[in-house]
Amino acid sequence: MREQLAELARLQEIDDQLARLERSKGDYPQRIEELTTTLTEQLDLQQGVAEEEKGLQKEQRHLERQIKDHQATIARLQERLSEVKTNKEWDARQKEMDAAKGELTTDEDRLLEIMEKLEGNGDEEEAGEEDLDDFRARAEAEIKDLKGKLGTVDSKMARIRSERDALTVHLDDGLKRIYNRVKEGKQGTAVVPLVRGACGGCYNRIPPQTITEIRRAERPITCENCGRIMLWFGEEENQ
Ligand SMILES: [Zn+2]
Repeated sequence: MREQLAELARLQEIDDQLARLERSKGDYPQRIEELTTTLTEQLDLQQGVAEEEKGLQKEQRHLERQIKDHQATIARLQERLSEVKTNKEWDARQKEMDAAKGELTTDEDRLLEIMEKLEGNGDEEEAGEEDLDDFRARAEAEIKDLKGKLGTVDSKMARIRSERDALTVHLDDGLKRIYNRVKEGKQGTAVVPLVRGACGGCYNRIPPQTITEIRRAERPITCENCGRIMLWFGEEENQ
């Protein structure tokens, strides 16, 4: 039993170590999540702008072709106007001409609008792209750094966990049950040393008879006040 109780103390040490390591991760996971989300949003936004630009360029090409067609139509109508014989025919041709000119104006106006928009977008995009490249580089560097730190902590924890597994395999089931139950209720601390005749967890005075029993380590002794398992860690620590 003495050996088992010593292992229980070792188990507490390991669990304390694990808890410390877990705490050392701090807000790294949240920070990684935050950076990743922002970066994705920004990249999506940039992609949206690029897609809009593509659409505008396509419309620009289409309008340029249409404008040429309108101009050809107007030239043709102009020619035919000289061959007109009657007033009625003249009116009809003139109407066609007005319609073609109207369409030409509409398309030219829209083309101008698109060109201005593309020009404005281009300037904005250039500035935006630089900002985004900058942010992306910084975010990716920070994510890499945080992941590296987390990775170190995680691999350390994995090593400690396998040590814990090896330890708990041959630990008495009854002891394990007491340990787990107390640990849950007492914020992670189930095993405490005896400190100057008192429980190291709640500083409750322990009667001499119980102290003797704790020193004998023939069975687990729990504190009547806080329920923690009390162990004798040798004169130095316990004085
Ligand atoms: Zn206690």
